[in-house]
Amino acid sequence: MIDGGTMVDGRRALITGITGQDGAHLAELLHAKGYDVYGLIRGQNNPRREAVEREFPFVTLIEGDLTDPTSLVRAVETSDPAELYNLAAISHVGYSFKNPTLTADVTGKGVLNVLEAVRVTGRVEQTKVYQASTSEMFGGLDYNRPGDGYDEESLFHPRSPYGVAKLYGHWIAKNYRESYGMFVSCGILFNHEGERRGQEFVTRKITHAVARIKLGLQPHIELGDLWPKRDWGYAGDYVEGMWRMLQHPEADDFVLATGETHSIEEFLTLAFGAVGIDDWRPYVKQNPAFMRPAEVDILLGNPAKAENVLGWRRAVDFPGLVSRMVDHDLAEQARIAGTNVA
Ligand code: NDP
Ligand code: GDP
Repeated sequence: MIDGGTMVDGRRALITGITGQDGAHLAELLHAKGYDVYGLIRGQNNPRREAVEREFPFVTLIEGDLTDPTSLVRAVETSDPAELYNLAAISHVGYSFKNPTLTADVTGKGVLNVLEAVRVTGRVEQTKVYQASTSEMFGGLDYNRPGDGYDEESLFHPRSPYGVAKLYGHWIAKNYRESYGMFVSCGILFNHEGERRGQEFVTRKITHAVARIKLGLQPHIELGDLWPKRDWGYAGDYVEGMWRMLQHPEADDFVLATGETHSIEEFLTLAFGAVGIDDWRPYVKQNPAFMRPAEVDILLGNPAKAENVLGWRRAVDFPGLVSRMVDHDLAEQARIAGTNVA
């Protein structure tokens, strides 16, 4: 296996989902390792394009869409990748309840379109594929509790159109591995966050609001249920795990998680505490609009296989993650508002 510091000059990688949180972290990582990085970008005028071009001038952008098989064939032919990281998806659980058909087309069938693009262009033996699977496939119902943590052998019972679509993606990836001998590894990743997380996700929604409340820019935050628990890690650690999966000699499935689970209430306590507010309750209102038709009450992962087989370790712990996100949002909001943060 190539160790964490080895350079691989000139190897070509294609990332779908380049404008997303993980796409940004992974582009940075692969560039630092010497890859030629290509990114699939959708839309005739993607509002995030300019930011990607500014932050990652080394990435060659290729226009395409996971729902358009021809565009994927063109992207694979243009980039001719040794490694293809399929990160693109409709990735928000709440949104997937509102747009289930689109979620199935992109997050589910889109995976098939990517795999087919590799296969029909004759790259089965040449291109290794990473598929972004998710802990949302486990679901966490009474008969399927996490115990010491869900692992690669645990039962699946997805609780949202997103989770169901991802499960299709997971199984079609395994099917291409078994049917065609394609190198396709699935990372079953638990929630991972950071300063690049979208504000539609609860962690970033909270840290963004905490910064603004501290600066007097907004009075409170509206949230849904506060009792669900998640295994939250830092996105920068997790993209290193994705890369390690594709350097391993065999394609396989790997859980990436911290092995700890925390409620949204615990996240609120740390986030408000980081700006000197001991009691968050006066600043938080519950709004049913942010509750889901079906909830995943607890997620906890067991990363033992990735640790033992890939040598992967997460570096950032839960308090470190929260303070990193709050510090970032405080600085950003202060800059926008033109105030100084002491
Ligand atoms: P984001 O939501 O930040 O990014 C999703 C990306 O998918 C965006 O670049 C988006 O592009 C792109 N995309 C959406 N629809 C299409 C489409 N039809 N064609 C092409 N691209 C499209 O997700 P993350 O970076 O957080 O996650 C990366 C992957 O990992 C996703 O597949 C996600 O489901 C999965 N995952 C994430 C976890 C997490 O905690 N972050 C946990 C487990 C799995 P655009 O800018 O055009 O919208
Ligand atoms: P998920 O685990 O992929 O669904 O990630 P999210 O960050 O979207 O949600 C994590 C948990 O926070 C889920 O149990 C949500 O129901 C809960 N939650 C509570 N309030 C909110 C909210 O306002 N927005 C979001 N996104 N989630 C919320």
